[in-house]
Amino acid sequence: DTTSASLNDPAYELDRAYVFHSWSAQAALTPLVIAGGQGSRVWDYDGRSYLDFSSQLVNVNIGHQHPAVTQAIIDQAGTLATVAPSAANLMRGEAAKRIVDRAPARFNKVFFTNGGADAIENAIRLARLHTGRDKVLSSYRSYHGNTGAAIVATGDWRRIPNEFARGHVHFFGPYLYRSEFWATTPEQESERALRHLERVIQSEGPTTIAAVLLESIPGTAGVLVPPPGYLAGVRALCDRYGILLILDEVMAGFGRTGRWFAFEGYDVTPDLIAFAKGVNSGYVPTGGVIISESIANDFETTVFPGGLTYSGHPLAMASIVAALDAMENEGIVANAARIGRDRLAPGLAALQEKHQIIGEVRGEGVFWALELVADQGTRAPLSGVVMGRIKTELLARNLLPFLADNRIHVVPPCVVTDDEVAEALAIYDEVLGLDLLA
Ligand code: PLP
Repeated sequence: DTTSASLNDPAYELDRAYVFHSWSAQAALTPLVIAGGQGSRVWDYDGRSYLDFSSQLVNVNIGHQHPAVTQAIIDQAGTLATVAPSAANLMRGEAAKRIVDRAPARFNKVFFTNGGADAIENAIRLARLHTGRDKVLSSYRSYHGNTGAAIVATGDWRRIPNEFARGHVHFFGPYLYRSEFWATTPEQESERALRHLERVIQSEGPTTIAAVLLESIPGTAGVLVPPPGYLAGVRALCDRYGILLILDEVMAGFGRTGRWFAFEGYDVTPDLIAFAKGVNSGYVPTGGVIISESIANDFETTVFPGGLTYSGHPLAMASIVAALDAMENEGIVANAARIGRDRLAPGLAALQEKHQIIGEVRGEGVFWALELVADQGTRAPLSGVVMGRIKTELLARNLLPFLADNRIHVVPPCVVTDDEVAEALAIYDEVLGLDLLA
């Protein structure tokens, strides 16, 4: 039992006594104790360390405890620890400028939120106000956050107990390995997924649709890298029907793909961008919406009906400024691209060659998924029981994994080193070679 070391630990006991956890039956939980971290590693209070190939919730892009970011938070706390959203503060302006500078030319403003879900919430609100339309189309294979509209825009199972918001319609995005469209090539999958989306738009009534909301690369749903032409095709459909395109870059953005924004790799420019996680690696909760000029201009003389006490919180803003500067100066985004191209792509392909249990490998940068199957022919997903065994075996070898459904998501920090990747690949190799199906 990999958690037995934690059972007499006060961190564990206090957690089990008093903490109510996300998305869980509380009695079934055995949370891993984490006390500290550095770079791509975390450790418990007894000093047992793990290679963090989860980046926690795929958010610690800059690695744990980057000294420039922690120092910026300390310095800001010593100067001004909080400020009203209505005030002007240098850190907020500096953070917003750095984000706008990295976005395409049509973007000129940032509305800061507390995290990813409320970034989606406000992107949807802006789209509805700008178009005067109501419906939002999003993919079944998506996660957009756990608040009113964001959870109903979400496609996965978490939407279903939470469907209290109106105006949401879902469609199928491309996923060649488990195609809904009987496609056999990426081009076919792209073309047919676009045709399906156009039929949904026509059937819902194009003039009722405010926005299509998509993760540039659906993350939790399986790192579903879009096939050629898909995102550009969605953009063309949006333009044809006067619909806005919101891209959710909460998980994919700020370095994870080896680019500042994932969509930069797909010949598409959205109207609104939702971000969070990687912008400051979650050192202080924050997120936001990057707003294109034509939408921001609506609110030059008209009141924007939305706000948050902690919008642009100074500790979060200081951490964004420090994180983005460090990522730029230390070549951290370039490192993610290099690791993806030179280490993870060939390394994971070699694992696939060797292990029948790997049905598909997909991803880029430090954003990958191994789709595990019980049978290569039928592509039957590996069961939850076997996935549980895999998790136990990875943890036993001091690798902290990110598992979702029948997949291992290989999502280390963007600062991961060649040696750490080699170490992780050896652990995946060993565990996937065990007689797991027995
Ligand atoms: N959008 C995407 C693509 C996400 O992956 C997540 C979180 O995992 C969210 C939105 C929600 O972000 P948060 O948990 O910060 O509210």
